[in-house]
Amino acid sequence: MRRWIFALFAIVAALTLTAAGAPAARKLRVVATIPDLKALTEAVGGDLVDVDTLSRGTVNAHEMEVRPSMMLKLRKADALVENGLELDMWVDVAVQGANNANVVRGAPGVIDISRGISVLEVPSVRVDRSMGDVHPLGNPHYSLDPGLAPIITQNIVDGLSRVAPEHRTTFEHNRQVFLGQLDQHMAEWTKIMEPVKGSKVVVYHPQWIYFLARFGLLEAGWVEDRPGIPPSPQHLVRLVRKMKDEGVKALIYAPWNDQKLATRVAEEAGAKTVLLAQMVGGVKGADSYISAIDYNVKTLAKALRP
Ligand SMILES: [Zn+2]
Repeated sequence: MRRWIFALFAIVAALTLTAAGAPAARKLRVVATIPDLKALTEAVGGDLVDVDTLSRGTVNAHEMEVRPSMMLKLRKADALVENGLELDMWVDVAVQGANNANVVRGAPGVIDISRGISVLEVPSVRVDRSMGDVHPLGNPHYSLDPGLAPIITQNIVDGLSRVAPEHRTTFEHNRQVFLGQLDQHMAEWTKIMEPVKGSKVVVYHPQWIYFLARFGLLEAGWVEDRPGIPPSPQHLVRLVRKMKDEGVKALIYAPWNDQKLATRVAEEAGAKTVLLAQMVGGVKGADSYISAIDYNVKTLAKALRP
């Protein structure tokens, strides 16, 4: 009898511990639409968050096919971090299938990190998706500029704090630590880019303007006719001529672009192709936010050096 009572006590004690310990131990479940935002949310959230992403760094983030696996991830999420500016608007379809009030547009857990970003390449005429243009609100690829990380991470701190106000101080502390690390790299990156400042480059898809502007490089043209629209032969002829006239030495492309076409254009113009990490995970070794930017800076500077 006594042994039985002891056993019962042990079970009750174990259950009580679990019940008391569980809420504190449970991490916030966050879903980010793209890998850069996963990386930056992890930097801010640290041990308090468990972050998953809906796309990989090698694919075209504009054109994601919505899958049931996305809905499953969103179903259990406490918060959703999105890029905005229509880059990841496909997430709305996934949210519809997720049946989770936490991630429905307007909910406190939906964090749009484009707030406060000065958007570049905003079209001067009205465009929309029916014309095939995938940047109708301007260029949405701002996460490639490490100089914008303070704004992005501030939006993440604010968003996560809406969901878990008790952790705001920790989020803010984590952000400061991360920005401190980034600052050190920024000084090094600026130094590496200094000798090639003012160089002109051509890009395949217009997704590099924030990165190029940060380091004083100039964008001389795009392989695509307009954002997301495959080039016409006439456009390519004009582009090659421009590259020759202006002495463009490098054509930047991403893993999801047509590598054959990039190579052909570069060869005709007497330039090199440069494959860069369009996002975390975009190329081998670019597995963190800082290492992706580091790869891009060093690879491009090397290609442009005389
Ligand atoms: Zn784009």
